[in-house]
Amino acid sequence: MRPPVTMPMSPQPQETIANAAGATSMAPLLTGDEILYLDGVTVSFDGFRALNELSLIVEADALRAMIGPNGAGKTTMMDVITGKTKPDRGEVKFRGNVDLLRYDEAQIALLGIGRKFQKPSVFEGHSVFENLELAMAGSRGVWYSLFSRLNGEQRDRIDAQLEAVGLLDQRHGNAGALSHGQKQWLEISMLLMQEPELLMLDEPVAGMTDSETERTAELLHEIAKTHAVIVVEHDMEFVRALDCRVTVLHEGSVIAEGDMDAVQNNERVIEVYLGR
Ligand code: ADP
Ligand code: MG
Repeated sequence: MRPPVTMPMSPQPQETIANAAGATSMAPLLTGDEILYLDGVTVSFDGFRALNELSLIVEADALRAMIGPNGAGKTTMMDVITGKTKPDRGEVKFRGNVDLLRYDEAQIALLGIGRKFQKPSVFEGHSVFENLELAMAGSRGVWYSLFSRLNGEQRDRIDAQLEAVGLLDQRHGNAGALSHGQKQWLEISMLLMQEPELLMLDEPVAGMTDSETERTAELLHEIAKTHAVIVVEHDMEFVRALDCRVTVLHEGSVIAEGDMDAVQNNERVIEVYLGR
């Protein structure tokens, strides 16, 4: 369990702090179509800053890759966005003006932010179809789902999603029998059943075969046409295949952002990754 962290007092002092960071701060510029806005977000664990004045913008219907060495703060960043960890200070806004710091984890999920942890967590003893049925029921719960009948439209939606991830033929088989990659696709599909606006995935291709990894890049491109997607990943070939804007985190702050080539040629990034 994480230690409890205090809620920020009010937005005012944080702005002062963000401004005080001066020229070195990477304060984001607002464009008007951002789905996620972080400014000056700081999280300390016993005095150690896991996030240090983190500022970041993600546009609606965009695919964004987040990379950074171990301990850079990537998971902590997701914890803050999903309400699992409250920052010491900073702003975290969703869809322009929704202050995520005012909501808990369950409320944030309902607001439209879906998160996938690294390990697949599907209902192994249920069929692939039932997994999506359960996910669709969401807050109405398992009992509702198992004892109520889906209407035709809901069935079609599930089938369309299964087709999109190539699992239509497995729909009546147990989820437990799927390959690791297929389970990850099933879980991504389960998140989509709840119609999130923002999807966050922590290392989705870890442990996947090369062809599963390629397929996942295509899938995320497809999903990003209608959702904002943030992917934290270590696999650089996969990040290149995502062909999207890349944000590099180091010691709790953004040190570079741009396309893969720009980021790979960035002095600071080379320094951090090669330890020079
Ligand atoms: P990443 O996901 O980029 O590898 P994390 O966000 O997991 O990085 O961790 C960032 C830093 O914060 C690490 O140094 C980690 O040890 C530290 N950290 C994360 N969670 C906690 C915690 N609950 N208590 C103490 N330190 C933590
Ligand atoms: Mg992590």
